[in-house]
Amino acid sequence: MNLRELIQRVRNKLRPHEELSNDAVLGFLRVLEDVRREELSCAEIYSKLDEYVECEIGCKDAAHVMPLIREHLDICQECCDEYEALLDVVEKMDEEQK
Ligand SMILES: [Zn+2]
Repeated sequence: MNLRELIQRVRNKLRPHEELSNDAVLGFLRVLEDVRREELSCAEIYSKLDEYVECEIGCKDAAHVMPLIREHLDICQECCDEYEALLDVVEKMDEEQK
């Protein structure tokens, strides 16, 4: 069972007619979602970084093609460092081929 299913399962237990002010459950949900958002997006960015860099080298409009990645790179120093390092390597390889 992945995190998404777990959250769905906890949500399903919160029926509208029931008391929703269960702070413990809601707090737990919030933590889960925060973790999911950060981990998933960084992992996703990471797995698409080479694609993004290739696009940037090729068509120079990567930020338009993959705006979510550009957005993440702007707010996440870790991924941005990774991106710049990769861009550097690819650019050097590109130059050597000419
Ligand atoms: Zn990141």
